[in-house]
Amino acid sequence: MIEAFPDTEAVHQCCICKGSTFPLIDLGRQPLANGVTASAAAADAAPAFPLDVIVCRECSLAQLNHRVDENLLYSEYNYITPDSSDLTRHYGQIKDFLSNCGFLGSESRVLDIGSNIGRLLEYLKPHVASILGIDPAQNIARMANESGIPTLATFFNKTTARKIREEHGEVDAVFIRHCFAHNPDPSVMSAGFPEVLSKEGILVIENAYFLDTVERGEFDQIYHEHMYYYNVRSISRILKNLGMRVVDLYHSDVHGGTMVFVAKFNGSSTPPSARVAEFLEKEKAMHTEAFYEDFLTRIASNRTELISLVNQLQAEGKTVHAYGASAKATVLLNYYGLTREKIPCIVDSTITKQGKFVPGTGNQIISEEEAAGNPPDYYLLTIWNYKDEIIRTVRATGNSTTRFIVPHPAVEVL
Ligand SMILES: [Zn+2]
Repeated sequence: MIEAFPDTEAVHQCCICKGSTFPLIDLGRQPLANGVTASAAAADAAPAFPLDVIVCRECSLAQLNHRVDENLLYSEYNYITPDSSDLTRHYGQIKDFLSNCGFLGSESRVLDIGSNIGRLLEYLKPHVASILGIDPAQNIARMANESGIPTLATFFNKTTARKIREEHGEVDAVFIRHCFAHNPDPSVMSAGFPEVLSKEGILVIENAYFLDTVERGEFDQIYHEHMYYYNVRSISRILKNLGMRVVDLYHSDVHGGTMVFVAKFNGSSTPPSARVAEFLEKEKAMHTEAFYEDFLTRIASNRTELISLVNQLQAEGKTVHAYGASAKATVLLNYYGLTREKIPCIVDSTITKQGKFVPGTGNQIISEEEAAGNPPDYYLLTIWNYKDEIIRTVRATGNSTTRFIVPHPAVEVL
């Protein structure tokens, strides 16, 4: 039986439908996943906050039970979309899906919310009529503008959406990829959609798919920035308040299981595709206590297995480093207790992170060049979602000996 967490307050109501909830997982107190520190001592002293997820019994929306102040979360946002062949292929698949279904074409005017340095827009530019990005991080929006991707440096909400309509006209497609869950109140952002989207326009929300997260034991998708974990049913519940509905879905394996939800206004002439009903049926069948309990069992067994593997390798005198100092890595290393004594270094290509330390565990972040000069016996793939690409990158440096440990869905040594 799943019981309420012993050390937290009474479980909250669902933020969206006010339904009752049950606890899914408690990862204990965790540092902010993107809060890399300047020294190992600062990593040890990094502030930690409760990280636990609850699920609504009514609309099945998974959500954080405790929220961290947004000013703490986003004051130093340094995530830059990587230049990745896997990601470019993914953009191509989304574009093809949307054009094959008649949702996107050469006449489409496109707005991307949380556009970062504009990689998606850069990809779409030759295929659509116009592009515009919006991102609250000033430094990142500047980089986008300098590379020729028009980007507004501000938050997206009702007011800014209205301003976009006045200055640039309405758009036919609004993309919001992997940031719709980054806001404590989805209604603040979503109130902007009707202001700027044309009557027959599409809203394209992309997010980790909650069913995949649970089914594959990907607990490291859970961190303080991710306030919600969506499925078709819960997204539909949120869109209902806007007079919108999901009309199609594109499911992909990228990032450990991703769903692209395509929504339109209720008055639109497009009926929902058969895929929508299929996924809703599947979600209904899986929304059971046994399904969520299995998630906990899988995590516990993977954790035991991975920790004993690292201990065994260490006893044999082998070196283990990690690869990818992403937010996921912070969660995984902290929850598994893989501190710098066990994993001294973690490789990352992001220049602004190099020389810094993972909060909580103090693993030092090093560059790919530095790693190539001193390769370990094993890499723990903390960015398992870029597995194939990392193995190719490491092998391309002439390193044919380092082996790779994959943490999910089962512990695997490659
Ligand atoms: Zn709910």
